Amino acid sequence: MSALTALSIASEIFPLIKTGGLADVTGALPTALKPHGIAMRTLVPGYPAVLGGIENPQQVHSFADFFGGSARLLAARCDELELLVLDAPHLYVRPGNPYVGPDGKDWPDNALRFAALAQAGAAIGQGLLLGYAPDILHAHDWQTGLVPAYLAYSGRPAPKCVFTIHNLAYQGQFPYELLTRIGLPERAFSLDGVEYYGGIGYLKAGLQLADRITTVSPTYALEIQGPDAGMGLEGLLRLRADRLSGILNGIDTRVWDPTADELIPATYDIETIGARARNKQALQSRFGLRNAPDALLYGVISRLSWQKGLDMLLDVLPGMLAEGAQLALLGAGDTPLEQGFRAAALKYPGQVGAVIGYDEALAHQIQAGADALLVPSRFEPCGLTQLCALRYGAVPVVARVGGLADTVVDANEMAIATGVATGVQFSPVTAQMLAKALTKTAALHADHAAWRNLQINGMTTDVSWKNPAQHYARLYRELIDA
Ligand code: ADP
Repeated sequence: MSALTALSIASEIFPLIKTGGLADVTGALPTALKPHGIAMRTLVPGYPAVLGGIENPQQVHSFADFFGGSARLLAARCDELELLVLDAPHLYVRPGNPYVGPDGKDWPDNALRFAALAQAGAAIGQGLLLGYAPDILHAHDWQTGLVPAYLAYSGRPAPKCVFTIHNLAYQGQFPYELLTRIGLPERAFSLDGVEYYGGIGYLKAGLQLADRITTVSPTYALEIQGPDAGMGLEGLLRLRADRLSGILNGIDTRVWDPTADELIPATYDIETIGARARNKQALQSRFGLRNAPDALLYGVISRLSWQKGLDMLLDVLPGMLAEGAQLALLGAGDTPLEQGFRAAALKYPGQVGAVIGYDEALAHQIQAGADALLVPSRFEPCGLTQLCALRYGAVPVVARVGGLADTVVDANEMAIATGVATGVQFSPVTAQMLAKALTKTAALHADHAAWRNLQINGMTTDVSWKNPAQHYARLYRELIDA
């Protein structure tokens, strides 16, 4: 196995900066690839959280004027991660999250902020900035979609570039007038370049120009070639279908480990799964729920957006509660959904609890204490919470879409008979079918032996990065050998 170097370019990385699953993936992949002889570094923007969290930063390059201000590249570490940080304070040192300001609106210069990241990544990849030229570039989502564009229009030799779609819903579309400011030539503005509906499409550029496209589950890879999930890009994805594949995400099984999790009241494994009862009790207290050991306690850990289908949960809530279930929801996002769950908690005290916000520790406590984890997404590229749920013995109840379809084995008659069921799936994704799934889940939960089987099957499912890393390693090597 020959050694290989790769540069991952991403707008988020766990544990430094995270708004969603993208950060989990970019944070886990480098460690997972090591046993395959792949040394991966990651280029990330120098947000305050990144600059404050890195160890031993060393300046390795400086730019007098980079997208309107001075900038430098820092080589640094964070635990096992080898980072390159694009320290450009005029672009990245701001309050709020990576994409939106405190007013909840996108930063008006996002086009420049992420063009800068992509351009720096491409230049490093081509060996132009550091004494380092990786064999492979791996870019993620629209924020780095221009990486293969900068490579393609540079007129210089370039390494092979993999582009991964974590979510096709965010496309990064900007006006044509920015073309010169982001440093792309006029000829890049073409149908087979960065042009997209009369503007510049960052995600489109990635899909059009990368050597290989991956997305985060086989089912999502198929779904996005059709009109429902394709979000306008299905034609292009069909054209490039021979370059497109789905590789499931894993989770960091050291961060998510019920046998050693310091964030939960009681650790446990399959043998000591009874200890979950203590976590359930603590969770009920934390969410102001009635202390009822036998009530079916659903957990939700989610961004509150249309994608996640939680408006349907609000619709079916009265029926679910009438069946005696409880809900502990942790989430933040769209105001109407935040208000809806806050109101539900007031209306159904003791049965519904909602924490509006982002809380990593509480996410662990929900996984360790809830009986079931609900993920009724309208679409879901991979989904990570259901993988954590499997590992923690919280039975996932999920919409049959994308990665949810690929990672949860529905408790249908056949799966139960053969002892492979791990959760409950429903389809089509409607409030009516969600309600049915909740009734089915209640029946399964009432049968202690059946429920325990679901939990144990889930806990023995391999949700680690082992298999996914193998797939990425194979993909990189195929590309290099091509
Ligand atoms: P997405 O990337 O679409 O948000 P995923 O399921 O792929 O959805 O990843 C979500 C990740 O973010 C999971 O690791 C989940 O635990 C975490 N997460 C989501 N919302 C919250 C929250 N409010 N508090 C803590 N963690 C959250």
